[in-house]
Amino acid sequence: MSCSLMHLLEEDDRTFEMDDYAGPVARWCSGCGDHSVLTSVQRVLAAADAKPERTVFVSGIGCSSRFPHYLRTYGFHGIHGRALPLSTGVKLSRPELDVWVVMGDGDCVSIGAGHWIHAVRYNVDMTALMLDNNIYGLTKKQTSPTTPQGYASNTQPYGSWLPALNPLEATLGVTNASFVAQTAEWLPAHLMATLQAAHAHEGFSWVRILQRCPHFTADLFGDVVKDPSRVELLVHDERGIQAPALDRMIEHRVTHDPLDLDRARELARPSDRIRLGLFYHDPSLPRYEETRELPRHTVTEKMALLEQELDRHAV
Ligand code: SF4
Repeated sequence: MSCSLMHLLEEDDRTFEMDDYAGPVARWCSGCGDHSVLTSVQRVLAAADAKPERTVFVSGIGCSSRFPHYLRTYGFHGIHGRALPLSTGVKLSRPELDVWVVMGDGDCVSIGAGHWIHAVRYNVDMTALMLDNNIYGLTKKQTSPTTPQGYASNTQPYGSWLPALNPLEATLGVTNASFVAQTAEWLPAHLMATLQAAHAHEGFSWVRILQRCPHFTADLFGDVVKDPSRVELLVHDERGIQAPALDRMIEHRVTHDPLDLDRARELARPSDRIRLGLFYHDPSLPRYEETRELPRHTVTEKMALLEQELDRHAV
């Protein structure tokens, strides 16, 4: 390593702007909510002066899973439903990295559902975002687990047969869930505050972001975007998500202590209004990475261990 690079890493007082994280122009549809989430994530990174070379975005497959391509950080565009095991592997082998995971609803709560449940329980320190547009967009309007019952798609043209899965209730039902929040990409003040709180949490932060897909489900969130009285904010003076910019815009609020898991589960049930905020947050819960000391080997040591292991099986 050169002396100048050593110096850079040891005395690193660099600061960053949003542009420092900007990659190529995103190829999502015009008006897609993914653009808004990308902008907010860049803001959060800049506000935290997150070092691009210490930041990793991992994704699966879906429109939102193109996220890593549009950020100038490290990235891993994985395979469908496997973003969480990949990101868990990254974090366990490189604990010094700041790991983010971006998934869609199909990716996280359908094909990746087994990984989702266990990632919540393992509580490894990373920030997981589920961008929920209630449909498979990349594969052209197929019913996903969060598609509302009766909503027509190309796979169920007479309407989705089953009631939609409620990812909030399910996540709050998993043992050892430590940070569960819901926000909406069309409310950037709330989105930004939620992402900052999730990023600051030491443990597995799971954030469901309601996301518009104007191409395939323009009617799903259209009314609620135009009518803020359809939204209710969970608020708490000390432990909630603070978004003062919404004080005049959203009148409906419910006070909720995010340490109260039973109440969080009640509030997560379907209601007349969409509830946004921090449902549950307990930073004291155990994290998987704390349960064991991971050996740190040099490349030479790793090769020697590998040879040793192979020799054991030689016949
Ligand atoms: Fe966004 Fe929908 Fe277009 Fe996909 S299909 S990029 S989710 S608007």
